[in-house]
Amino acid sequence: MGDVQVLDFKSMPKIELHAHLSGSISRQCLHEIWIEKKAANKTDLEDPLIVMPLGKHDYDLETFFPLFSSYIYRLVDDADSLHYSTISVIEDFAKDGVVYLELRTTPRALGSMDKIAYVNHVLTAIDVAQQKFESIQVRLILSIADRRNTLVEANEVVALALRFRDSGVVGLDLCGDPTKGDVSLFTPAFEAAREAGIKITVHFAEAECSASEAELETIMDWMPDRLGHVIHVPESVKKQITAHSGIGLELCLSCNVQAKMIVGSFDAHHFGDWWHVDGPVVVPCTDDVGVFGSPVSNEWALIQEHFHLGRNDILGLARKGIDVIFGGEEQKARLREIMW
Ligand SMILES: [Zn+2]
Repeated sequence: MGDVQVLDFKSMPKIELHAHLSGSISRQCLHEIWIEKKAANKTDLEDPLIVMPLGKHDYDLETFFPLFSSYIYRLVDDADSLHYSTISVIEDFAKDGVVYLELRTTPRALGSMDKIAYVNHVLTAIDVAQQKFESIQVRLILSIADRRNTLVEANEVVALALRFRDSGVVGLDLCGDPTKGDVSLFTPAFEAAREAGIKITVHFAEAECSASEAELETIMDWMPDRLGHVIHVPESVKKQITAHSGIGLELCLSCNVQAKMIVGSFDAHHFGDWWHVDGPVVVPCTDDVGVFGSPVSNEWALIQEHFHLGRNDILGLARKGIDVIFGGEEQKARLREIMW
């Protein structure tokens, strides 16, 4: 175990690159939104503390997506709740010692708010939060969140990313229920984004059904800058990833264990296969801390506990993550200052 000593992971300056805005909202924050709406007679939904009791984190692929469609998206459905929850999420990350955060969200039309207004609202809330919590800088990634979307819908998200690229949008993501859809449909959208200089991250081999060699080859052809999850990867594709120097791997330990996306527990997580490999850059991420309940500081504690990384390994790995942020040279320089 060498130089293992207990690090204070909360005060260690950290970066977080894979965090879905809606999935990162704490239950307490959802509860506060619910109380306001209930008092104003604006919701028929049940109290979130009943729907998602504190301490319940064992959501799997079958219960996870319905939680959003039937509850969280229905509660956070207007400008006020979007603003309030975005600031609350950033506050939680800042208090956990995150100094650079890339949030991701799917542009949604809500009532009179179209998708342009939605992105605008989120960016405004980010500005407010950055002024309030000075230790954190936040950038936004826009998600194509439903693999059943049409190419027209995907292109719309690319257009939004371009429109807001000077106001804090730094990347494009493909996520959503991995049991649905065919990713090859989106190739022109991702090619257009890449040609325009928008950074790309993709949910990759998240479930066995979304890990065929054909699908993974298609995604690798988009030349993504980062990959999320990277679970069920065939050997041939692993070689491709290893050869791709500087590709970021957003690995989400608690999410994968809680949602039973891997077989076994933390010790069996593929973080152990990747963190020391030369070439790809591993970044521990939370995915949906509001659902899975493990903040970034705890992800690092789990890494130390289960993979026995020494102090220098941990600090080195955390610092390496700076290379794969989407926020540009200025942010990289800032982080290299802050991160020892
Ligand atoms: Zn994700």
